[in-house]
Amino acid sequence: MEKKIIYTAAIGALTAVFSASAGYYSGIIHTNAVFESLISRLELDLKKEREKNIILTQLLTKQKDEQILQRNNSFENMDFETDDSLQKFLNPENGFNNKKYIPQSLERISSNVIYDSKGGNQVLRKEAKDALEEMGKKFEQETGEKINVVSAYRSYDYQVGIKKGGCPDNLCANPGFSEHQTGLVVDLWSASSKDNWYSNVKLKKYFSWLNENAHKFGFHNTYQKGRDVDGYEIEPWHWRYLGVELATYLRENNLTFAEFYKEKTKNEKK
Ligand SMILES: [Zn+2]
Repeated sequence: MEKKIIYTAAIGALTAVFSASAGYYSGIIHTNAVFESLISRLELDLKKEREKNIILTQLLTKQKDEQILQRNNSFENMDFETDDSLQKFLNPENGFNNKKYIPQSLERISSNVIYDSKGGNQVLRKEAKDALEEMGKKFEQETGEKINVVSAYRSYDYQVGIKKGGCPDNLCANPGFSEHQTGLVVDLWSASSKDNWYSNVKLKKYFSWLNENAHKFGFHNTYQKGRDVDGYEIEPWHWRYLGVELATYLRENNLTFAEFYKEKTKNEKK
């Protein structure tokens, strides 16, 4: 009699254990199924996302191509000839049509971010002055110093004076041929030669900054590659406003304005 009770109890206990574990395992199986469907949904989402990215990249590439095409087209119509064109090209052979040209809208450059080393009377064309001001702000933010302008717009008569003072042709343009007469150019800080400039730690630091940033404000270092290429000796201090688009293009392609001009006009000159 007692044995029967023990058996019944044992069978009862085993059944309980068995059904509990069966429930547990079916729970696991159920959970696995949920995970699997989640994972496959995630994989599908990922696949869709990847496809979307590919389409987006294709679109962006197409957009970039169109931008380059547009830019090339706008570069095609560039005006190197008119005296007041922002891209007027000047070198020892190419001067102003009107040798005594005076730009419109000349404005004083002196401000709380631009130091005019000639006491506040130096001027630039408004386009260049505004861009210089913006560049000056950024320069001061990053270096804690002001951009120092030693020379800006120079008139025909002023250039006559410089030449009378004995400045040689490889350094100073003849009156009516100087980029400074455009009102778009500044000479920054002061150095008598490029070697003098590069051996000065501060000027070297300023130049690195300009080389990294000036094009973002539309400025280009006109004379970088020597007389044979640019018409004048290398002048790390001489920066000309050409507009952001062209200055950036020249910077990105390691071209000087003279090289760009030569390339763009080679077909006309044949
Ligand atoms: Zn200059």
